[in-house]
Amino acid sequence: MSSADPAVFHKLYGVRKPRATYYAKDFLDYTVMLALTALVTGALYGFRHPMALLGYGLCAVTLGMFAIRHGVELRVPLILRRPQDALYLFLYKIQNFRPFYFVSIAILLAENAVIALTPGLPHQVDWMRKLALGLFYLHFAGLSIYRTVIMADHLRKRELVREVLMQTPWKRVITEKTKIVLEILHAYGTGLLTHIVLIAPWYFLITHVRFSLLLLLPVAVLNYKTYARWMRSSYSSWFYREHWLGHNSELEFIYLHGSHHDAIPSAMIAVSGNGFLEGVLRHSIGVPTPFFNPIGASLVYAFEVKNDMALHQYIPGVFPQFQKFAIETNQHSTHHYGRLEPYSIAMKGDAPGMSEEVRKKARGVAKGIRNSVQLDEELTGFEWDNPIYRLTQKLYAKYQPETEPVALPAVDLSAENATT
Ligand SMILES: [Zn+2]
Ligand SMILES: [Zn+2]
Repeated sequence: MSSADPAVFHKLYGVRKPRATYYAKDFLDYTVMLALTALVTGALYGFRHPMALLGYGLCAVTLGMFAIRHGVELRVPLILRRPQDALYLFLYKIQNFRPFYFVSIAILLAENAVIALTPGLPHQVDWMRKLALGLFYLHFAGLSIYRTVIMADHLRKRELVREVLMQTPWKRVITEKTKIVLEILHAYGTGLLTHIVLIAPWYFLITHVRFSLLLLLPVAVLNYKTYARWMRSSYSSWFYREHWLGHNSELEFIYLHGSHHDAIPSAMIAVSGNGFLEGVLRHSIGVPTPFFNPIGASLVYAFEVKNDMALHQYIPGVFPQFQKFAIETNQHSTHHYGRLEPYSIAMKGDAPGMSEEVRKKARGVAKGIRNSVQLDEELTGFEWDNPIYRLTQKLYAKYQPETEPVALPAVDLSAENATT
């Protein structure tokens, strides 16, 4: 990977307006966004499905929380002032398509064509659908229990959560007006709603296409190869472009990515780095995963969501503990602690000061992901050694001392003042 072209990665038809937080003036746009979220959830699950009902409830609670946390200021919504940006949003998605998205759809269509053409063969489509639904609910229930356990530990250690966040740019949010308990519940609701919406396209496919038991093995092999190649060659640059737009097109921030940054940086909020509508869009017009066979899809979804939760626990000393591997190799934490960059997956497999144990483990990560931060280095001039990263290191050394911090060269550590 060399010479990433800003004309491609930073292309905008509309106005560039970098955003990282919501304001009271976004209230009406935020309301429209939640209404769309509820509509899409109902359309994909069925309007009276329990998952959709849970989704509507969370949308209503989330809207109330916005009013309490940010206030309400009535302005003509951005979507009415710049409706063309909504069109651009879909144009950007189309321009960012990668071949593996179409490959996974083609495999699924071919499987359904074979099932239709060979009605005499024992494809066991009903049994396969039952299996797929079982895996779907197991996935959602298992990760929701995990999310709930994480919330319980944050509530139990709420004073520690507050103490840590008060030393970061999040101190602007953790005020008397918004109590820490509210912030923790808001983070939990954010994660739960994002999860419900993100897996809605997967549910829709399970209930609208057919899977064959006879073809399970060859389809699984093809799905595996598709996923491996997507991760190796496309995911990193696809994600950078998506994520850059999510922060630099104001409409994309408010409608797609913003909810991911509105909540405190904890594992509770995480569902593969997505906002509410962002998840459903990426998982219907973007990634190959929902089109995989049910076993493959459930494995990939479980891995991606669980992994992303572990990668978003930036409050040390609270369950689940942030791993030494993630601290030493990834700076998505810097993005959640007050800087726009890095936009990439932000891994550096040869970061300065890495322990030998971590370096060895990093070699096992897919090639395209291992040095994904290179895109930021080339496109934004991102520097690995920066004040926010040093602040994160300090917090870990203080609150999670069993995680030895990276040995960066000694410099002035007045990083508490680091803000965007
Ligand atoms: Zn972001
Ligand atoms: Zn994130």
